[in-house]
Amino acid sequence: MKTPLDAQKIRDDFPILQTRVYDKPLVYLDNAATTQKPRQVIDRVISYYYQNNSNAHRAKYFLAEKSSELYESARETVRKFIGAANSQEIIFTSGTTASINLVAQSLRKFYFKKDDEIIITEMEHHSNLVPWQMVCKDVGASLKVIPFDDEGVLRIKSLESMFTEKTRLIAVTHVSNVTGVINPVKEIIVRAHAYNIPVLLDGAQSISHLPIDVEILDCDFFVFSGHKMYAETGTGVLYGKQKWLEQMFPVQYGGGMVLSVDFDNTTFADLPFRFEAGTQNIAGAISIAAAIDYMNDIGINAIHSHEKQLLQYAADALGDIDQVTLYAESATKSGLLSFNINNVSPFDVSMILDKMAIAVRSGTHCAQPVMKHLGIDGTVRVSFALYNTVEEVDVLVKGVRRAVQILQ
Ligand code: PMP
Repeated sequence: MKTPLDAQKIRDDFPILQTRVYDKPLVYLDNAATTQKPRQVIDRVISYYYQNNSNAHRAKYFLAEKSSELYESARETVRKFIGAANSQEIIFTSGTTASINLVAQSLRKFYFKKDDEIIITEMEHHSNLVPWQMVCKDVGASLKVIPFDDEGVLRIKSLESMFTEKTRLIAVTHVSNVTGVINPVKEIIVRAHAYNIPVLLDGAQSISHLPIDVEILDCDFFVFSGHKMYAETGTGVLYGKQKWLEQMFPVQYGGGMVLSVDFDNTTFADLPFRFEAGTQNIAGAISIAAAIDYMNDIGINAIHSHEKQLLQYAADALGDIDQVTLYAESATKSGLLSFNINNVSPFDVSMILDKMAIAVRSGTHCAQPVMKHLGIDGTVRVSFALYNTVEEVDVLVKGVRRAVQILQ
């Protein structure tokens, strides 16, 4: 099978992919948890520390200016990549989780009140569930949940029947981190906006797999992590429409986010700095820019088609194994799939695959309500990146067949 990418060539960019595990070549299929990093990203970070390191937005000497310039240029790279109108709408955070908590805690201060309603979906990662649940508990609001059907598809036919005059926000994942199902987020946004309800999209599982344009999507917030898009861990982004960010209160206070301070009062800096208290992860932001440059060189559309082909190939081959149950088999998916070997613990499957140097995730994937709906303890999750190959899928399928023999 030929895909639009020369994955073999791309693999040379990722030093860790040469690793041998138990004297076998590593097959890394846990990219939804975190992707590996290309030399181009690692080198950019090293060169920052070798040549440019100093604090950003603090001083006027040569290195300080250089550091500030690189940090702001990273912001601009992110802005372009997601199609935001201006770079004030881009806030660097430590990841998706931090971005969602920032929005939740900030809106809690002035926006949510008693009896309000926040809508999420049944397929959210805990990071897009617990922060809203906690806000609800704090202010006396309630959480409403859009269910998914047997194919893992959101039941949004009667979405409007969930809306009341107290509905204050919808928070939904763009792509499920358990099933890979792509949610109809544009449709949700259009329908929510007709009732003046803002929408936050969790883009953790879409940012490195699908083309994203926040202006076209018209989402109010879009959040993602750097480490799932070939950049460093502990990095992430909150995109917020200017009209929202301007009203929002900071949730962390300290250096770099103020205009004036005395013992009675503090005035906050302009956007985006008022949300970036303290010394930021400057090298991390630079790594996101390097990762975006890397993906842009390859092209997000080519990445998407490559991964889509791998996904289909894997789904067909795993689906041919009688003892395997695939989840959300017929839904439109991106980047990943989940399965179980019937009556076998997913942990046992992943341990056997590990012995064959195949790295996959098993468990609840931080989405316990999904497991409850499916009536299972967990799944085995296979997730792709631009460097995965058809040959690796063949190794996986062989491994799963072997696991069936051993465990059943
Ligand atoms: N949302 C989704 C859909 C995810 O897949 C993840 C990571 N598994 C997160 C949120 C949390 O991301 P992070 O741990 O990088 O904050």
